[in-house]
Order: sequence, then structure tokens, then C-alpha cells
Amino acid sequence: MADLVLKNIVKKYSQGSSVNTIDNIDLSIKSGEFIVFVGPSGCGKSTLLRMIAGLESVTSGTISIDGKDLTYANPSDRNVSMVFQSYALYPHMTVFENIAFGLKLSKEDKSTIEEKVNKVAEILKLDILLDRLPKELSGGQRQRVAIGRSMVRNPKVFLFDEPLSNLDAALRIKTRLEIAQMHQNIDSTMVYVTHDQVEAMTLADRLVILNKGKVQQFATPKDAYDNPKNKFVAGFIGSPAMNFIDVVIQKDYENNQYYISLNNSHGKSNDIYLENHYENIEKYLGKTVTAGIRPEHMQNGFRDSQISNELQSLETVVDYYEYVGADGFLFFDLNNTTVLSRISPSGFKGINNVIELKVWAKKILFFDKDTEERIY
Ligand code: ADP
Ligand code: MG
Repeated sequence: MADLVLKNIVKKYSQGSSVNTIDNIDLSIKSGEFIVFVGPSGCGKSTLLRMIAGLESVTSGTISIDGKDLTYANPSDRNVSMVFQSYALYPHMTVFENIAFGLKLSKEDKSTIEEKVNKVAEILKLDILLDRLPKELSGGQRQRVAIGRSMVRNPKVFLFDEPLSNLDAALRIKTRLEIAQMHQNIDSTMVYVTHDQVEAMTLADRLVILNKGKVQQFATPKDAYDNPKNKFVAGFIGSPAMNFIDVVIQKDYENNQYYISLNNSHGKSNDIYLENHYENIEKYLGKTVTAGIRPEHMQNGFRDSQISNELQSLETVVDYYEYVGADGFLFFDLNNTTVLSRISPSGFKGINNVIELKVWAKKILFFDKDTEERIY
């Protein structure tokens, strides 16, 4: 278990370039935490992880583990261990030999090796597979062997770079759960890279949401979902993604309340009144801002009866529908933008028909159109 601290980390791949691949990243990761770096392809996740592992130099800044500055230390002196997407196992060695390989190199005695490999094999449920060759294993089993190989070294910090991307969807979910259980059992500090926000949400104690080499938000999955700091995080976290709609902030002076209009091109207009807690909204009066509404906050069947007096009506005409079993996805336009609403399929009345949905107005977020920062 170990604290991992990154201070002002910058990475430029070519000297004199104006582009920072990693742009001044500060992170303080607590001992035993499961941290996930998540962001779109090319945002710098692997670069950052490889710098922690010592496989890539830093341009400036410091990396320390348990208070010890390791910025320029060799990979082998950092006590970290990395699992890659392509789990290169030795094809001619059994599972046991693959896991034991590093221990043999460091000349540990035979009984210690056996004890360590067996313990790791038990945690990863590889104990009945120890005599097999990699070609006799499924993709998920091979990935577990790769994880086992790093576990036997008992590193202070585990690093994973998209370890599940080569697995099919069902196996990804299963192996994801196994990794979460392994973390519960061994309690090590883990840093895990993925571009898949669902994988990130399910595994992380805290998420580092990256875009263009910058940390957009460092938060628990729940906080990132409930309180995204900007439009990027709001759109990246949550599935299906948040809808973004241009709206003008208006005021009903008689009732002293702010409202927005959400208009469907088939002639349905809806004024949605905002709760009074939108403190910062006043200076945007009469201006266009971006409203963010999650598909689940604009639907037909809210389960929580306690919020019924917080729901407002939204009438619209449906253009398209996708049925996915437990949910249905309705598509329609509001203020000239196609939006998606996640409904209970029983409420679907057919396309080109008017449907009345409910909007949970309190959950609507607002973003500045220029800076894309959260207004409220
Ligand atoms: P991610 O893992 O988030 O997909 P990477 O860290 O691999 O992103 O890459 C971040 C950016 O740095 C990308 O634009 C990529 O093209 C660039 N990059 C990565 N490795 C190198 C390298 N060795 N030399 C030059 N540019 C690189
Ligand atoms: Mg990568």
C-alpha cells in the first residue's frame, strides 16, 4: 500500500513543441485507492501511466511514492507493476511458470516461489489452471495470468493500461468484477486506465477524467455524475450521454421565477420553471446558455414518488424509438437539437404521436456557451 503523488507533471514529446501532451497534472492518490484515468483516445492516459511506471520520461514535475521522489528512478526501482492491454505471456511456459518467471529471475528459492504463486493463483481463481499453456486458456484467463504475474511481485502500486480491451463484452464485465474483487482482497493502490466510462464508473473509488492532457475533474463516480464541473465531464460521464440544448434564460416577473422554453418543431412549446437555487443564473438573463439534461431526468416513469411535486410536464412529438428491453430510448427535437429520453417501454405510444414526459427540473444543469464551465 502506498501514497502516490504527482506534482506539476508536464510531458512534451518533442522539444520546443507548443503542445503539452500532459499539461501540468497534480494528483494525490491515497494508499489503497482504486483510481481510474478515463478520457477519450489520445487524451494522454497511457503517457501519464507510463511516466508513473518509469517507462516514459517526464518533461517537468515530480512523481513520488510514499514520500520518496522517484521521478528519475529506474522502472525496476519503483516497486510498481504494470499490466498491459496485450498480455504477452510466454507461449511455451505453463501458467505456473509464467506467473513464477519474475520470481525465478530474482533467484527466490523454490518453496517461496511455490507459496507465492499458489496464493496469487487462488485469489485469481487460476489454481486449477496452473499446468496449462497460454494457448489452452480463454482471453479472460490469460489476462488473469498477466495480472498474477504482476501480483506475485507484491508491488506497492499496480498499474493497468486498458487490460480488458481485447476481451469480448461479456468477458469484460466478468473480468471487471474479478479485478474489483481482487482489489478488495489485497487492498493495494491501483491506477487503471480505460476509455470506457462504464468500466471507469464501476471500478473506481475516484476518477481522474482527462481531456487533452488536462485533468477535467478528480472526483468519485457519484460526484462526477451529479456535479460535473464542465460540459466535457457532463457529456462524458453517464450513458446514454447527457443532452445539451441551447436555451435562453427568461424571467417570469409576476412570479419572480426564471424559466426556459423547450420547443419541439411539431408545435409543442414547454416552459420549464427553474428552482430558486439557480443563484448564478441572474447574470445570464436574456442570454443563450447550454442546458444539460440527462435522458433519465426527462422521462415517463420516475420511480421515486417523493419527487412527484418536482416534476414538470414536457409535451413533444416522437420522431424515432429504440427498444432495448428494460428501457426505451425516445428521440425528438427540442430547440432544433435531437435529444434522447430514456423511458419505460410501456409508456411508448408510437412514433409521430404526442407524448407527455416529465422533466425533473432541479436536475437540469447549465453551462456557459463560451467557456463550457458549469454555471449551475
Ligand atoms: P491515450 O492513452 O489516452 O489514448 P496516449 O497517452 O497514448 O493517449 O497519447 C497522448 C498523445 O500523445 C497522443 O496525441 C499521441 O499521439 C501522443 N503520443 C503518444 N506517444 C507518443 C510518442 N512516443 N511520441 C510522440 N507522440 C506520442
Ligand atoms: Mg492508451
